[in-house]
Amino acid sequence: MSYSPCLDRFGRRINYLRLSVTDHCNLRCAYCSRMQRDFIPHREILRYEEHLELIAAARRLGVDKVRLTGGEPFARKDFLPFLTGVMEKFPELDLRLTTNGTLIPEKMQQLKDIGLSRLNISLDTLDRQRYARLCGRDLFSEVWRSIENGLDAGLGIKINVVAMRGVNDDELGAFLDLARRYPLDVRFIEFMPLTDNGTWDRSRVWSAGEILAEAKEYVELTPVSESKPNSGPARMYQLNTGLGRLGVISPLTEHFCATCNRFRITSDGRLRTCLFSNREYRLRPILRSQKLGLEQVVRVMRMAARQKPMGHEILRQRCAVDPGGRTMAAIGG
Ligand code: SAM
Ligand code: SF4
Repeated sequence: MSYSPCLDRFGRRINYLRLSVTDHCNLRCAYCSRMQRDFIPHREILRYEEHLELIAAARRLGVDKVRLTGGEPFARKDFLPFLTGVMEKFPELDLRLTTNGTLIPEKMQQLKDIGLSRLNISLDTLDRQRYARLCGRDLFSEVWRSIENGLDAGLGIKINVVAMRGVNDDELGAFLDLARRYPLDVRFIEFMPLTDNGTWDRSRVWSAGEILAEAKEYVELTPVSESKPNSGPARMYQLNTGLGRLGVISPLTEHFCATCNRFRITSDGRLRTCLFSNREYRLRPILRSQKLGLEQVVRVMRMAARQKPMGHEILRQRCAVDPGGRTMAAIGG
């Protein structure tokens, strides 16, 4: 397939698309969708065929990595057949998936069999009761079974932990112990001001620097330089006596805007070029128009790329981001 690379005005090359397939979720995480009342009407949610078209358009810009996310992707009906379809249609794509892991403990072998090699599972606490309070449902055991079954099936597992002062900062030792005992990545991501439900304030940020300093009191860490392309913004460390790795992602304290290579598309087909900007480009009308075709989607994507901002500038101007009435579940985390 031929493509011409998509560069923005800062010379950043866009080659990574995060595609949200639903704004619905079976959990209600306090920092994400707890207060979400409005959902996108069903008729406005893109059909799976439309998601395939968007991936095809993105491929024309040189996008070679796609992450399917949500809301909770597995909460959408027929997500697994859709995933299989994406793999069949775009076998060369670096396809990734982010899930809360609650709906898939028995599906891990199937995911491996259809060709998925790795999975990001979100888990912010290792305490069952705390999990129920934080995520709104007592499903810790399901997530844990997904992790164990995923490892047994040979999937690469990354655990994403939102790092929150006063919420889970007493669990660093437990998470390090997890990374010591299992061959998986535990990655702490700084709590971002992306909700308007009052859960975020500066004092809740447990920064990547603090996490690393505290971790070094427990374990010896060796930095890992990621040689793979598309390895992303996580800074990774091998535990010197352990099977797994620790990672930190610092969108707030050490932003990585200069190397940001992403686009996001919401489940109703709105392109967002930056997590911290609520500017959206509507692709659904183009997809559903009789006259306009894939070429026009590609054109809008290129035009949007040229407007892609430096997100940290937006964060500096305001202390919190106005997500434009959308939760992280609606934007697609
Ligand atoms: N439901 C799936 C899950 O939880 O993994 C996928 C969607 S979720 C919105 C994607 C990621 O965004 C999760 O890892 C979640 O922890 C993260 N997230 C949500 N709100 C966040 C916030 N305010 N700051 C940092 N990460 C956040
Ligand atoms: Fe759902 Fe994921 Fe948001 Fe939690 S973080 S409410 S699991 S979308």
